[in-house]
Amino acid sequence: MSAISGLVFSIKRYSIHDGPGIRVTVFMKGCPLSCKWCHNPEGIFPYQETVEKSHRLGGREFIEKEQAGKFYSVADIIDVLERERVFIDQSKGGVTFSGGEPMMQFEFLLETVKACKDLGYHTAIDTSGYAPAENYKSIIPFTDLFLFDIKHLDDNKHLEATGVSNTGILENCRILLETSAAVALRIPVVPGFNDDAGHMDRIVQFILSAKTDALTGINLLPFHKIGASKYRRFNLPYLMNGIEPPSGKFMKEIKNKFASTGVKVKIGG
Ligand code: SF4
Repeated sequence: MSAISGLVFSIKRYSIHDGPGIRVTVFMKGCPLSCKWCHNPEGIFPYQETVEKSHRLGGREFIEKEQAGKFYSVADIIDVLERERVFIDQSKGGVTFSGGEPMMQFEFLLETVKACKDLGYHTAIDTSGYAPAENYKSIIPFTDLFLFDIKHLDDNKHLEATGVSNTGILENCRILLETSAAVALRIPVVPGFNDDAGHMDRIVQFILSAKTDALTGINLLPFHKIGASKYRRFNLPYLMNGIEPPSGKFMKEIKNKFASTGVKVKIGG
């Protein structure tokens, strides 16, 4: 097996929201986007970081240093999977590569998904869509499912909130829908950014214009603040103060809108 390695900031076992069945989700470090609401800020920078974690014990505070990001070889990832093989097989699960943006470490990702497919694992890639089209085309034969984010259809708004243009992302979305086995679209619902009725209608229209048999589902991901404390630990400014998660009622209204696409819609991952 190749000596190439990938920088990973977390590996989650028994994951049930990143594709079918019970999965191992590999969170790869480094993302070309910097979404204001990102709940995995430890996944944004493509290098190892040392962070301080404080613990309280008997009224005293202890500071512990922790390293974010560890290098794994392809064989290391396969070892992790093989240890969970029984659960994965029994639940018809697999492995999901998430992040950060897994396509940013393309060489490593390609080698790893190939090795996973050789061993019969179901493979999924959770992607922002921001990577060269050629790389998506090369990895399609080894990927059973793409979890593909659509954040905003207006390029200026996309650029302002994520730091990158959406042009290539939307083109890649159409390419995957035309050529890959399965795609689930993931739409973060972020109050004040993309949740107005007019914009949600535009996404519905985009889906209707791009959808093929490859489109297996739409996931509406309500903004939440679970990652807020991580910003302090990583010494990063948290830009979502004062923004509240959308209500359950509002999410149901949006879900009804997306149901008109004829595709299965779910609130959450
Ligand atoms: S694309 Fe995902 S991982 Fe990257 S910054 Fe945005 S929310 Fe975070």
